[in-house]
Amino acid sequence: MTKTFAINAGSSSLKFQLFEMPAETVIAKGLVERIGIGDSIFKIEYGDDQEFKTVEDITDHGRAVEILFEKLKEFKIIEDLEEITGVGHRVVAGGEFFKDSTVVTEDVIKKVEELAEFAPLHNPAEALVMREFQKRLPNAHMVAVFDTSFHTTMPAVNYLYSLPYEYYEKFGARRYGAHGTSHRYVSRRAAEIVGKPIEELKIITCHLGNGGSITAVDGGKSIDTSMGFTPLAGITMGTRTGDIDASLIPFLMDKLNITDVNEMINIFNKQSGLLGISGVSSDMRDVEIAAYEGNERAQLALEIFENRVQKYIGQYIAAMNGVDVIVFTAGIGENSKEERENILKGITWFGIELDPDRNDTRKEAIISADNSKVTVINIPTNEEVEIARDVERLK
Ligand code: AMP
Repeated sequence: MTKTFAINAGSSSLKFQLFEMPAETVIAKGLVERIGIGDSIFKIEYGDDQEFKTVEDITDHGRAVEILFEKLKEFKIIEDLEEITGVGHRVVAGGEFFKDSTVVTEDVIKKVEELAEFAPLHNPAEALVMREFQKRLPNAHMVAVFDTSFHTTMPAVNYLYSLPYEYYEKFGARRYGAHGTSHRYVSRRAAEIVGKPIEELKIITCHLGNGGSITAVDGGKSIDTSMGFTPLAGITMGTRTGDIDASLIPFLMDKLNITDVNEMINIFNKQSGLLGISGVSSDMRDVEIAAYEGNERAQLALEIFENRVQKYIGQYIAAMNGVDVIVFTAGIGENSKEERENILKGITWFGIELDPDRNDTRKEAIISADNSKVTVINIPTNEEVEIARDVERLK
């Protein structure tokens, strides 16, 4: 048995899971939040339901990694650093360059830094965290797993915007998508559950979390996905607009007296979506409760969310000329039977029929009726295990 870390560094966070491989047993997991913001939270769970949490100022990702290693030793989760033989790092933007996960070298870290223009908040933090792990675990096998690589199979007809072609050639202005590790994990799992080779299946994966994206997986390959150049595009999300008309940008900047376009983009990213429409919260649970209590804007937010998901599913049925399996995953997808039901009851024309009893679950399960033309499956996503598997695969 060896130990492998799955690391997910965000702009101000660091999530980690330590696995025993190849058994895929989780021996510790946790996160550091509010890095560089103040009152940072470090939390780790390990052993038999043991948990440790502390709030202190963690100024940068380097310090976050340092505390993580201190606590691993203090709580005797590991005795010797040499026990950790593998580390997988999630990277947000791999551009067109990284078509698969890859073993981390100095060149790879430099390329991740170069690709920062596609993910300015994420890629630099991820590169820094890779270096921190290299320092502490110089003998470990390190792999970078890109959020975008699963979508590099998209054909030009789907990844190109209708812009002057040279903007793609010169600047890489195209759709890249995101959540690739999740869409890859759940689509493969779906094929295992229905017991058919993935090459023979048309699957639509709905990753509905705080961020959300829908992917058309034809024969095991992503052929289209709802996120675009950045994760701002696609369906209505917790705080993100999803698709909007670019002409709104100058119009709203003028009305709001905003001169810095980044401020406008920030509103599209952080004050829109469920939060912006409902005025209640970005959290689906809060919006559902408010809607239930009669808040009309919360009800409207739910309807808009469901409508956008339905339209993407419809688009992808058209794009693949059919669908065998629809998968729901991530916070909302996995947990909200109401959202799954409301989304699917609007598109029964395609022969999709839920079984209400089966749908009453948060676990991995087929939730469609036996006579449904399309199999609907609820699959809790597991990006971390997919990352740890890639560390094994690329040994
Ligand atoms: P994620 O980004 O995958 O962690 O998902 C977060 C989203 O999932 C938030 O909007 C949560 O409100 C939502 N969520 C989590 N549990 C539930 C639940 N039981 N019912 C509805 N939404 C949920």
